[in-house]
Amino acid sequence: MKAVRFFGHKDVRVVTDMEKPTPKGDEVLLKIGGAGVCHSDLHIIDEGTVGGSVFTLGHENAGWIEEMGSDVQGYKKGDAVLVYGPWGCGHCKPCQQSKENYCDHQSEMAYGGGLGLDGGMAEYMLVPSSRLLVPIHDLDPVIAAPLTDAALTPYSAIKRSISKLTPDEYVVVIGVGGLGHVALQILREISSSTIIACDVTEEKLAFAKELGASHTINSKDENAAEQIQKITGIKKAKVVIDFVGATSTIELGTKIVSLDGDLTIVGLGGGHYQYSMSGLPFGVSMTNPYWGSRVELMEVVGLARQKKIHIEIEKYKLDQANEVYDRMRNGKIKGRAVLIP
Ligand code: NAD
Ligand code: ZN
Ligand code: ZN
Repeated sequence: MKAVRFFGHKDVRVVTDMEKPTPKGDEVLLKIGGAGVCHSDLHIIDEGTVGGSVFTLGHENAGWIEEMGSDVQGYKKGDAVLVYGPWGCGHCKPCQQSKENYCDHQSEMAYGGGLGLDGGMAEYMLVPSSRLLVPIHDLDPVIAAPLTDAALTPYSAIKRSISKLTPDEYVVVIGVGGLGHVALQILREISSSTIIACDVTEEKLAFAKELGASHTINSKDENAAEQIQKITGIKKAKVVIDFVGATSTIELGTKIVSLDGDLTIVGLGGGHYQYSMSGLPFGVSMTNPYWGSRVELMEVVGLARQKKIHIEIEKYKLDQANEVYDRMRNGKIKGRAVLIP
């Protein structure tokens, strides 16, 4: 079968000679409908954040059940499902609570399919346990694939701060890409705060306005922090969610977050931050959340089925993977790119 494989630093190739796996025990073989292209893939490809082995890329996956091991119950061939991405041990306390993204054994395991193990940029994908599937019912797997990360990760980050997102407060979203464009819609639907969005191009800022941002600021502007403070007034933003994670965006976040606010850094842009008592308002919680839980993914499916969130999608073939990664390097993708076998 065809697959998009990572061979090492800046070396991604589409191969055609992969063997179609056979599931046993609790394993499930999926016919892939779509595999989302995440910026984390670029960190792996260009910066080597997941070292070592050769594997099939694609950690945002959805498809139809093709074949099941003999222990799988409650599913049938053809069921449409998402693949929950952060594969934990399945038995520690966080895993039992469905928070496999914070599995006790994370330091000694590969992160999951497409992140060290074979992922979904292929015709078929082997999922190691039926525990990792979430049914999507009437949703189309081609367009639902990004729910597993581009929607789940911001949903989990937003829920963490939900008690602070009241109607009198401001929330700032930095980076209106795959994750950020869904974050804006989730904020619009589940919070009542005024939304301010930052990106570096006029197209992305106009897009942010369509998705629920009341104000947009170009974070390339030297006085971006002052422009944001003009909107919020002296109180500043109660919650800042940074989907870039560069030194400059983290610095912007520290300037615009309010006393007792949340500064949530989701982006893996390799930025640095040097703590100083006077550099951060008192009471700020700075966090670097990773992905979300299985139960949260079910909630995200609920948002999508109710049409409260919509993923803007660019569709491509597996053969176009390298072209798509180039578009992403240049910030050219509107919403999320999905590879369709
Ligand atoms: P993307 O490429 O789709 O979007 C990035 C967006 O940020 C683009 O719109 C780009 O124009 C914008 N941007 C770049 N520099 C900026 C700046 N200085 N100020 C404002 N905006 C800027 O990326 P994505 O797939 O949405 O991923 C975003 C980040 O989140 C990546 O670093 C990715 O690795 C990370 N990520 C983290 C998790 C997690 O669990 N922590 C999960 C998924 C992705
Ligand atoms: Zn991702
Ligand atoms: Zn675990």
